[in-house]
Amino acid sequence: MANPSNPSEIAREALRLLAVRRLPPSPDNYRALYHEIAGTQPAEALPQREFKALLASLPQETLAQQRLARRLEQAFAASNWQQLGTGLSDLVRQIGKEQDLPWNELFGDFLREWENKQAGLTVARKREALERVLAGSSSGGEVLFGRLQGLVKSWSAAGPAGEDIPLLESEPVAAGASGLQHAGEGAAATAEDGSEPSAQLRDLFAHLLEALIGSQLASEPDLTADARALIHKVRTATSRSALDDLLAGIKRFAFRLELLAEDRAELRAGLLKLLQLLIENVGELVVEDHWLRGQIDIVRDIVAGPLNVRSIEDAESRLKEVIFKQSQLKHSLNEARENLKQMLAGFVDHLAEFADSTSDYHDKIEACAAKINQAEDITQLEEVLTEVIRETKIIQLNAQRSRDDLRAARERVGETEQRIAELQQELERASTLVRHDQLTGTLNRRGLEEAFEKEVGRARRRQSTLCVALLDIDNFKKLNDSLGHDAGDAALIHLATVIRETMRPQDTVARFGGEEFIIVLPETPVEDAQTAIVRLQRELTRRIFLHNNNRQLITFSAGVTDVRPGDTQASVTKRADAAMYAAKQAGKNRVLVG
Ligand code: GH3
Ligand code: MG
Ligand code: MG
Repeated sequence: MANPSNPSEIAREALRLLAVRRLPPSPDNYRALYHEIAGTQPAEALPQREFKALLASLPQETLAQQRLARRLEQAFAASNWQQLGTGLSDLVRQIGKEQDLPWNELFGDFLREWENKQAGLTVARKREALERVLAGSSSGGEVLFGRLQGLVKSWSAAGPAGEDIPLLESEPVAAGASGLQHAGEGAAATAEDGSEPSAQLRDLFAHLLEALIGSQLASEPDLTADARALIHKVRTATSRSALDDLLAGIKRFAFRLELLAEDRAELRAGLLKLLQLLIENVGELVVEDHWLRGQIDIVRDIVAGPLNVRSIEDAESRLKEVIFKQSQLKHSLNEARENLKQMLAGFVDHLAEFADSTSDYHDKIEACAAKINQAEDITQLEEVLTEVIRETKIIQLNAQRSRDDLRAARERVGETEQRIAELQQELERASTLVRHDQLTGTLNRRGLEEAFEKEVGRARRRQSTLCVALLDIDNFKKLNDSLGHDAGDAALIHLATVIRETMRPQDTVARFGGEEFIIVLPETPVEDAQTAIVRLQRELTRRIFLHNNNRQLITFSAGVTDVRPGDTQASVTKRADAAMYAAKQAGKNRVLVG
């Protein structure tokens, strides 16, 4: 057929040529032959499959999107290019429309509802819901808008809550899950993660401020007033602006506290310097007086070293003892002076009396001598002699009485002198070693009693654990017997030194008996106390005791226990002792907890 002109003729000719040329009857081959016969150009083929897949991948989250996608698919299936065209232009228009969503209104509503308290809704719950919305809306602003709007509506539908709903409930919130940042610079109540302080936190803060007023601000009326105002604000501030105000108040207050702390540190340093000066000066003035010297040394050590509550207390008790002993001594010295005065006065009286009586005696004897000269018979002489003897006896008696009185007075002075000497000795001991063991320099039982009471009080106030360890040297008798008592003493001193240098400064060491020591460990859980005593054992093994250049291994067994409610020093010591005994029974050189 030459030049077929209508489409059915062209189609038929195309089929014939497919057969003649032995081509596979594919749509593409058919289309190519058709255009060849018709003398037309083949239209560019539409990639059907890809286009279909493209339409299927269009977002279909909203109803409108779903509707639009369906329209496009139908138009494509029907090759309705006009319908496809309007569908696509609708889609393009939609993109611009998103920007017209009333976000500003939505955010306004959102913030209002976020701040409002709704029945049955806590901030944590709200945040959880918000996080869900944010996580599920990654595909588009319109979706987020719709979901957020739904969320805000559900909150406002929940209705207002009563006043007693807590601001924050204690349910945990996954860390880092929040995507919300509060608008406005974080009010006091707005933490980084968007949470608000709980009622508990408010209470705690108010309580802290009250404690501060009681303990630190007694002499600071301005700061006390500030703190009280803050307490009121902490308890009442709920609105955003009140919280902002509270935050500013806290910042101001913290700054003023910092200044106060600086002032006080400066004051303390100044006072210490002054005290140091005073001590040095007094020390120079009273070089001779070794009692006072001892006291000054105590205070000087305290002021020079890093200040430590326990060493200050120790010094205080030592000074008290010395002061008490000094007042006793002063009293005795006054007594002695009084005695001496009386003795001297008595002596002078006796002397005067004696002088009177002797001049009297002389007169009388002279009179007697005259009588003797004038005497005419023996009877008269006898009378005179009797008188002479009587007068002599009187004067003798007077002299004897004076001598006795003087001797008694001298004895009284001697007694007083002895008492003064005793007191001086006591004072000397008091000024150095009253509460301390003379051999090792650790506290003695009396010192331990005081230290223990103080530590128990302190642990109760701080609600911390206080532990006690009782150490007993192993086989000490053998060491004494084989090396002598002096070696034993040196070993005790060695152990005390290692204890003092190994334990913390706040731990108290006391010699409890012959070769037993007690260590009081403040703010230490019982397991840590055991570890610390085991460490002491190792240190003692490392720092071996030398006697006459011979190495002597000293070990100890120890019992450790914590101070429990209702305990006395005796009950704690008993428990530690039982644990120590158990350690001995178990083979010595070990630390057991009781
Ligand atoms: P254990 O391992 O069971 O504790 O045996 P031990 O030998 O250490 O204990 P024991 O109680 O039998 O002996 C303690 C000895 O300590 C008896 C005493 O001679 C000695 N001692 C006590 N006080 C002192 C002191 O101040 N100096 C000296 N050198 N020895 C002392
Ligand atoms: Mg013992
Ligand atoms: Mg022993």
